[in-house]
Amino acid sequence: MTDLTYRLPQKRHLVTPLPGPRSQELTTRRRATVAAGVGSSVPVYTADADGGVIVDVDGNSLIDLGSGIAVTSVGASNSAVAEAVREQVGHFTHTCFMVTPYEGYVRVAEELAALTPGDHEKRTVLFNSGAEAVENAVKVARLATGRNAVVAFDHAYHGRTNLTMALTAKNMPYKHNFGPFAPEIYRMPMSYPFRDADGLTGEQAAQRTISQIEKQIGGDAVAAIIIEPIQGEGGFIVPARGFLPTLQAWANENGVVFIADEVQTGFARTGDWFACNDEDIVPDIITMAKGIAGGMPLAAITGRADLLDKVHAGGLGGTYGGNPVACAAAVATLEEMRAHDMPARARHIGDLATTALQTLADEVDVIGDIRGRGGMLAIELVRPGTTEPDPELTKKVAAQCLAEGVIILTCGTYGNVIRLLPPLVIDDDLLTDGLDVLAAAIRSAAQA
Ligand SMILES: *Cc1c(COP(=O)(O)O)cnc(C)c1O
Repeated sequence: MTDLTYRLPQKRHLVTPLPGPRSQELTTRRRATVAAGVGSSVPVYTADADGGVIVDVDGNSLIDLGSGIAVTSVGASNSAVAEAVREQVGHFTHTCFMVTPYEGYVRVAEELAALTPGDHEKRTVLFNSGAEAVENAVKVARLATGRNAVVAFDHAYHGRTNLTMALTAKNMPYKHNFGPFAPEIYRMPMSYPFRDADGLTGEQAAQRTISQIEKQIGGDAVAAIIIEPIQGEGGFIVPARGFLPTLQAWANENGVVFIADEVQTGFARTGDWFACNDEDIVPDIITMAKGIAGGMPLAAITGRADLLDKVHAGGLGGTYGGNPVACAAAVATLEEMRAHDMPARARHIGDLATTALQTLADEVDVIGDIRGRGGMLAIELVRPGTTEPDPELTKKVAAQCLAEGVIILTCGTYGNVIRLLPPLVIDDDLLTDGLDVLAAAIRSAAQA
C-alpha cells in the first residue's frame, strides 16, 4: 500500500532456526508457571510487531498471516491507535462507565450505530470479549421475547464461557469434560457447500434447518437464532447464497431474534464493514469484538432499540466493559479503517490470494476447497482426489510455514483447514512472499 508507512522493515528474515534459543528459554520458563491448558499455535515469543511482520525475541522477522486471530487488522502497532491510547492513559485508565461515565463509550456507540447494517434506531452495550458479547446478546433476546430456546449451528464457535461453550459445536478442545453446559441450546444443520449434497441451494439448506427447528422446538418457543455469517473457528464455512436471508425471514415471521455473531468477520475483514452486508442481512442484534480496537480488548452488541431498551437499568454491564483506553483505540481504529478504505484493501487481498491459491489448486490434488471472502480465506485440505479431511497434512503444512517464517493458523471441525487472516495493512510483496511459502509447503507436503 502506498499510503501506509511502517516502523519495521516489511521483510521476512530469519537469523536462527525457529523457535530460536531465547524463545526456547521462555518456553521452559512458561512450562513451570503458565497452566498447560493455555496453548500457543506458534512457540515463538514476540518482541515487536508492525504492519505484516512479527519480530521475535531472537531477532527473526516473521510474516503474520493470522493477525492474532483477526484482531490486528490495522496493524499491531498502528501509530494512530498507539497515539490515541497514549493520550487516553495520560488522562484516565478507568472510572467504570457504570460509576462515572465518559464520552469515549458514547462515541463508540455512535460509530457502531452508523456502521452496522440497517438504519433503524439502535442501542449498544460494550464488553471485554467476544464471548461476553455473545452471552449478553442471548440475555437480551431471552428477556425481550420471554422465550428460552436458542438455536446454534453445526461447526459454530461462540466462545469459551459456560453459555458460549454450549453454543460452540466442537468438543475438543473447547468443551471436553468442561460440562455440564447451559440448557436450552439446540444445534441445527449449517449450509456447508463443500460437504452438502451437490446442488443443495441456500434456500433448501435453510428449509432443512427451519423444518428441524419447527419439529424439535416450535417456532414460538425460540428466543434467538445465533449464527456466524461466515463461520470462523469451524472452518471459514461460507453458507450458500440464500441461506442467511431465508433463515432471517423465518426468524422475523416467528418473532425470533436474529443474532449475527460478527466477532471474527466484522470490521472490514471480509471486504465489507460486516459480512452481513454481502446479502443485505440486517440482524436484530450483532455481536462484535476482535478487529474493533486495533488489539485492545473491546467487544460490543448493537441491536434494535426496542429489544435492547426492554432490559431494566443495571441488567447489563460489567466493571471493565467499554474501558476508556479501549474505546479511544476503537475510535482511532475505525478512523484508520475509513482513511485507508480497509474494506477495499480486504477485497484486494482476497483477489491476490485467491488467484495464487487457485493456481496451486490446479497443480495439486489435496486442495478440496478454497473459500472465504476478502481478507478471510481458507483452504480445506483433503486426501488426494477425495473429500476426506486430512488434518495430518494440514499440521505438516503449518509447521513447514512456521519453519520458513510464516505464521499460518489452522481451524475447522476436522482440523484440516488452513486459514488466512493477514493484517489488512500487509503490503503486497510481503503477502506474496507469504503465499509463495504456503504454496511451496503444500506442494512438498502433498508429494511426501
Ligand atoms: C473469537 C470468537 C468469539 C469469542 O471471542 P473471545 O473474545 O475470544 O471471547 C465469539 N464468536 C466468534 C465468531 C469468534 O470468532
